Amino acid sequence: MQRRTKIVATLGPSSTDEETLEKMVAAGMDVVRMNFSHGTATDHIDRARRVRKIADRQGKSVGIMADLQGPKIRIGKFEAGKVKLDKGNPFILDADCSLGNEQEVGLDYKDLPKDVSSGDVLLLDDGRIVLDVISIEGPRIHCRVRHGGILSNNKGINRLGGGLSAPALTAKDMEDIVTAAELQADYLAVSFPRTGDDIKLARELLRKAGGHGLLIAKIERAEATTSLEEILDASDGIMVARGDLGVEVGDAAVPALQKKMIKLAREKNKLTITATQMMESMIENPIPTRAEVSDVANAVLDGTDGVMLSAETASGKYPVETIEAMSRICIEAEKSIEAALERWFLNREFKRIDQSIAMATIFTAFHLKVKAIASLTESGSTPLWMSRINSGVPIYALTNIEETRRKMTLYRGVYPMLGEFTGFDRDKLLEKVEDLLLQSGMVEVGDFIALTIGEPIGQPGGTNTMKIVKVGDNRK
Ligand code: PGA
Ligand code: MN
Repeated sequence: MQRRTKIVATLGPSSTDEETLEKMVAAGMDVVRMNFSHGTATDHIDRARRVRKIADRQGKSVGIMADLQGPKIRIGKFEAGKVKLDKGNPFILDADCSLGNEQEVGLDYKDLPKDVSSGDVLLLDDGRIVLDVISIEGPRIHCRVRHGGILSNNKGINRLGGGLSAPALTAKDMEDIVTAAELQADYLAVSFPRTGDDIKLARELLRKAGGHGLLIAKIERAEATTSLEEILDASDGIMVARGDLGVEVGDAAVPALQKKMIKLAREKNKLTITATQMMESMIENPIPTRAEVSDVANAVLDGTDGVMLSAETASGKYPVETIEAMSRICIEAEKSIEAALERWFLNREFKRIDQSIAMATIFTAFHLKVKAIASLTESGSTPLWMSRINSGVPIYALTNIEETRRKMTLYRGVYPMLGEFTGFDRDKLLEKVEDLLLQSGMVEVGDFIALTIGEPIGQPGGTNTMKIVKVGDNRK
């Protein structure tokens, strides 16, 4: 059985050499994530080139996602590199402090003192350290330690409940967007967006730099959960960024939000990635915990397009084993999903011809129990619409455009294939499609398949035909 859910793996020191990357692609990595919080532009460009070379060699489609650092608010450095904070003691966050100690530390975001007020709760280092804000005095935020511990250089700060005003795109992000365009990233992930406008701006900058990538909004601020619809409308997909999100809204609120976000995204024809700590223990261990297995399986049951690995593949000891484990968990969870057309699908409205064909095809494919759908596509829209519905039928997306092939790598249940599909008459084209599916072992002679085609062939947005064929019949 082919896996439907896609695996997104972050690259880093553990996944840079060619041999490891080769194994990661073979193990089923569908999309690589370049984390722009680390590394130089040259590192990312080199890695992208290497990944594409390996994918070509293995005849696979691997997408590339550039993930911007965004305005992660951080403390400065300490004289000693770190300090120990004790419960009940005072501690000052001071925008003017250059080198910290047990009493105070600096801030990279100088406006933070204007954004907080007494009574606020600040969470440092993903919530490991908790500070209560007592008062603000110019650039100084006077706090009391609620949960102490070791605090080291440059750790992140979140406010419980969100509401910090740092804009989503920093000067560094704007430079990184140019790098993302240069390495022809298939997806651009925007960190900490607050509204749809943040995504619109990122899209504008990416297009201006010549980039074609789809825009993924990372939902990781409390206020993004309340403007979710608007952010979704401006994006091509979202990431359930559970790390920062859990700090801002409280960890217990995340599971329900994950379900809600995935559902809404699918209804709006958008993509979803479920991210952070999915296989966390595999950073150190060769097998996952039962809780992690359940977490990955549940994201699959929620209907996510992609499940993401962060430190597991970037800096962990078992990058290849983690992908293998994740893959088998996804496949097993998918087996338990009963294919059914959901009510929201049956009631949905659409006006476009190509979308009508997509919906008619998925409906027909489901009821006729065809073996596969083959979708000839220039833009990837028809496979995207069809993949939003849980039909259980695999969708082979055939395109002659390399960019389109790579941007479909994240679509759940869609298998992108590259080939020459223009310049033939309909019969010849059908033969080519059948040959391709037969060769890859996806169908056998005598199977029914559903095709979507745009006639005349070769014009984007032109899907206007559904055809049901019995494989082999048109050659008799
Ligand atoms: P990050 O985003 O890994 O870039 O912080 C994901 C998250 O916050 O969960
Ligand atoms: Mn984050």
